[in-house]
Amino acid sequence: MSSHRPIAITILGATGSIGLNTLDVISRHPDRFRVFALTAHRQIERLAELCLRFQPEYAVVAESADALRLQQQLQAVACTTKVLYGEQALCDVAQSNDTDAVMAAIVGAAGLMPTLAAAQAGKIIYLANKETLVVAGALFMQAVQQHGARLLPVDSEHNAIYQVLPDNYQGNLKQAGIQSLILTASGGPFLHTALKDFASITPEQAVRHPNWSMGQKISVDSATMMNKGLELIEAHWLFHAPADQLEVIIHPQSVIHSMVRYIDGSVLAQLGVADMRIPIAHCLGLPERIVSGASSLDFTQLSGLHFLSADFNRFPCLKLAYDVLHSSNPASSCVLNAANEIAVAAFLHNQIAFTDIASLVDCCLESYSGHAAIHVEELLALDKQVRAAAQKWVNSRMSK
Ligand code: NAD
Ligand code: MG
Repeated sequence: MSSHRPIAITILGATGSIGLNTLDVISRHPDRFRVFALTAHRQIERLAELCLRFQPEYAVVAESADALRLQQQLQAVACTTKVLYGEQALCDVAQSNDTDAVMAAIVGAAGLMPTLAAAQAGKIIYLANKETLVVAGALFMQAVQQHGARLLPVDSEHNAIYQVLPDNYQGNLKQAGIQSLILTASGGPFLHTALKDFASITPEQAVRHPNWSMGQKISVDSATMMNKGLELIEAHWLFHAPADQLEVIIHPQSVIHSMVRYIDGSVLAQLGVADMRIPIAHCLGLPERIVSGASSLDFTQLSGLHFLSADFNRFPCLKLAYDVLHSSNPASSCVLNAANEIAVAAFLHNQIAFTDIASLVDCCLESYSGHAAIHVEELLALDKQVRAAAQKWVNSRMSK
C-alpha cells in the first residue's frame, strides 16, 4: 500500500473505452488515487453514473444544454460535483492546481488543446490520445520539455516499448544501442479478406476487432491500419525515432505488444493479454507495479505466435503514414489526421466506401503538401481547412 497522499487525476474522455478502463484500475486502488474531474462529450447518463460513483469535484461536457441536464440529475441525488462545459473548461480541469495527473483519453484532434494545457501546466500526462502527437508533435513535445511535464505512453505498443527501453533512455537511439523499434499490429479484421471484397466492407464488420474492444474510430483505424500509421508518428515523437528505425510487423495474436531491437542482436519484448488495463496500470503505478485486473497470460493456451510483414496494397493507409514521416513538411501529419477523421466518420455513416478512406487521405495530402503550420493556431486552422475540403470530397461522392 502506498503511504503517500492520493494522486488527484483528471480523466479527459472518461466515458470512452480508455476512460472506463482507467476508472476500473483506479477503483482497485482507492488509497492511491482520487478523481478530480471527469469529462465526456455528450454521454450524459453514463457520466452521471460515474460522478455518483467517483464523486469528482468537476464534470465537463461539450454543450451548455447537456451541462444543465447533468447538473439537475446530479443535484436530484445530492451529488456535489460541479458541472462545466466547453473546450476552455476541458483545459481548465486539465491544468488546475488541484490535479496532479491527466489521463488524455479523448478521441481525435479534439483532445489536443486540453492535453496541451496539461503539458503547459507541467502535469503527469498519461497519453492515450495519439492524435495529439500526430497533429502537433513538435509543439506538444516542446511544451512537455519546457514545463517539466511527465509524459507516459498508454497506447499499448508505446507502453510496451517504454517498458523495455533502458531506464535512463534520453531520446537517443544510437547512444542506447538501439537498432530499431518494432511496433506489432494485429492486422485487424481484414487481414485475410480478399482484396476484391474490400470496397464492400461495412462499418459493422470494420468495428469488430478480433482482439481488442475499443471505441469506434480507433477500431476503424485498426481495420485500415491507419492506427499503426498514427502510432508510427506517435513513436517518432515519443522516442525520437526516425522513420527508418521504426518497423511494423503483423502479429495476429496480439500477445507481444511491441519490441526493441538492440544492436547486439537482442530483441526485448513486452507480453500480456490484450487488455488496456495493463498499460494503464503500468503508467498509473510508476515507479511501482500495481494490480490491473487483467487476467494472466496462459502460455499453454496459446496456439502459437505468428508474424508477417504488412502489405501496403492491402493497407495503403500505413504507406501514407510512412510517407508523411519521410515528408519534408512537418504539417503533413496534421493533414493526414484531419482527412482521416472526416473519412472515418463518413465511412461509419455509410457515406463512403471503406476503400475511399485511403483515397480521401491521399487526395488531401496531395492538395495540402505545400501548407506549412508551426504554431498551434496555424495547425488548428489547417486542421479546419482540411476537414472542410475532405467533407466536400465526401459530399461529392454521395451525390454520384
Ligand atoms: P471512445 O470513442 O471509446 O471514447 C472517447 C471519449 O472522448 C469519450 O469519453 C467521448 O465522450 C469523448 N469525446 C469524443 N469526442 C469528443 C470531443 N469532440 N470533445 C470532447 N470529448 C470528446 O475512444 P477510445 O477507444 O477510448 O479512444 C480514446 C483515445 O485513446 C483515442 O485517441 C485512441 O486512439 C486512444 N487509444 C485507445 C485504445 C483503446 O483500446 N480503446 C488503445 C490505445 C489508444
Ligand atoms: Mg495501440
